[in-house]
Amino acid sequence: MSSVGILECKSYDPEEVKEAIRVITSPFDKKKIEGKKIALYFDFPAPNPVFLREVIRFLKGAGVSEIVAGTSVISAPVPGEITDMLEWEGVKFVDFREDKYEKLTVPLHGERMPDHFRGYALLSPVQYSRELQLGKMNVKGKRILKHSFLPLTLTEADCIVPVVKLKVSPVTVIGGVVSSVLSIVPTLTRNEIFINKLKYQMEQAIVEVYGLIQERMVFGFVDAVEADLTGDKELDKMNAILFSEDGFALDSLSAVLIGYRSRDVKTNKVGDELGFGSGLFSHVSLFGDEFLHFRKDLVKFLKYGRYGSLRGKKPRVLKNDAERISKIETFCPTGAIKFENGQYKIDRHSCISCMYCVQLLPDLFGV
Ligand code: SF4
Repeated sequence: MSSVGILECKSYDPEEVKEAIRVITSPFDKKKIEGKKIALYFDFPAPNPVFLREVIRFLKGAGVSEIVAGTSVISAPVPGEITDMLEWEGVKFVDFREDKYEKLTVPLHGERMPDHFRGYALLSPVQYSRELQLGKMNVKGKRILKHSFLPLTLTEADCIVPVVKLKVSPVTVIGGVVSSVLSIVPTLTRNEIFINKLKYQMEQAIVEVYGLIQERMVFGFVDAVEADLTGDKELDKMNAILFSEDGFALDSLSAVLIGYRSRDVKTNKVGDELGFGSGLFSHVSLFGDEFLHFRKDLVKFLKYGRYGSLRGKKPRVLKNDAERISKIETFCPTGAIKFENGQYKIDRHSCISCMYCVQLLPDLFGV
C-alpha cells in the first residue's frame, strides 16, 4: 500500500506554496536525494511556475547536487516565464526534442502466473476453458514494447521528479504522472504506442515506458491548486497539492478527486495488476488534509467526456494558428496534420483518433 499526501493550498502565493510543500513532504526521508543529480520533468499544460520554483527550492534545501529540468512540449502554453524562472534558479532547461535519446530494453514484467489462473479450481468447466484460452494468450505475461527511448537527461540523472498539473485527457482519462511519459519519449515511440497498441493495449505500453523510470522516480507532485479540467475557473480550482513516491497512487487519488473511479484510469488498473504500484484507490493510504474536503464530482463538466469517449471521432482544426500548430505537427503519430494551400487540415483517412493534437492544443483542435 502506497501513501499519498494531499494538502490545502489556496493560491500560488509563494509563501503558501512553500509551506504546503514543506508540510506535505515532511514524511519523506531527504537523505534519499542528498548529493544526487535530479532530473525534473513536466508536460503540458505546464504546472504553475511558482509551484515549480518551490519544488526546485525544496530539492535544493534537501541538498541535491544538481537539478536539470526538461520537457518535450514547449509549444504554447508552456510559458517563457518557466524558462526564465529556471534560469534565475540556475537550473538548466532541456528541450527533450533536441536532447539525445538512449535506447532501453523494456523489461519483461508480469512473468508471474496471470491472475485468472488463481483459484481456477472453483470455476465452472466453461469458465475454466475460457480461462485456459486466456492463459494461452499469456495476456498478462506479455511485453508490449520491446524497446523504448528516453532522453539522456533522464537516464543520466540519479533521481527523477515529475511535476504535473491535474488535468483530464482524451487519451488516458487522467493526464497524470504515468501518462505524462508520453511527453518524454520521442515521436517514434509514441507512434508505436498509438498506432500499434491503440485499441487494446495502449495503457500497458504506457505503463511499460513508465516502468523504465519508475525505480529512479523518487517522488512526484501534482499541482491541483488550479487544475486544467473544465475550462471553468471556479470548477477548476481544487486548492490542493498532491505528493507521493508512487506515481500510480498519485494518479489514483487524482482520479477520485474529480469524480472518476481509480480503475477508470486504465494505466492505473494495469499498473496495479502488474504490481507496479498502488493504482487502485483501495490500495492507497492518505495523509495530510481530509480528502473529502477537496473532492468534487466534476465528471459531467469535464471537457473530454467520460472514459475517453472521444476515441473513434476525428478532430477538426478550429483555428489556423500556423505558428503554434507547426510546433506540434510532429506529435501526430500518423502525420495526419497536413498543411495545404496555406491552411492546416486533418487527413481523415490517416487520422487514428488518438486525440493527441486535441490534448496538446485544445483551443486549436476540437471534435
Ligand atoms: S490528427 Fe490528431 S487525433 Fe488524428 S492521429 Fe493526428 S494527433 Fe491523433
